[in-house]
Amino acid sequence: MVEKKRAGFFPFLLSHCPRCGKGKVFRNKILSFKKFSDTLDQCPKCNLEYEPETGFFFGAMYWSYALLVGATVILSVLLYYLNYFDQAVYIIPSLILFSLPWVFRYGRLLMLYVVYPIMYKDKFYGDNS
Ligand SMILES: [Zn+2]
Repeated sequence: MVEKKRAGFFPFLLSHCPRCGKGKVFRNKILSFKKFSDTLDQCPKCNLEYEPETGFFFGAMYWSYALLVGATVILSVLLYYLNYFDQAVYIIPSLILFSLPWVFRYGRLLMLYVVYPIMYKDKFYGDNS
């Protein structure tokens, strides 16, 4: 079996390629308001195709949902213990709206880092690895 190289946790946080950890995944900076979601077709360093099949990134919705539910539960508990639970109705939706670009991007990155190496082993570990 070929040695399986994957990028670690810091490339994930920096939105870098899941295989080489060097190339960017997204075309623009996260704070570019309308274009934060533009994803490159392939890694500029190792040529990993980021979308192995059409609709691959639909699965990112489930990751985004999980991230938002987790954040909502943690924030609710935190606000309850800080005695701000009455304001949670305003605080939590505001934070969710503010964090949408990050949630969107990390949903896609979780697809690339978790699902891609499992479902598309040939493409992920194939050429140039
Ligand atoms: Zn790469």
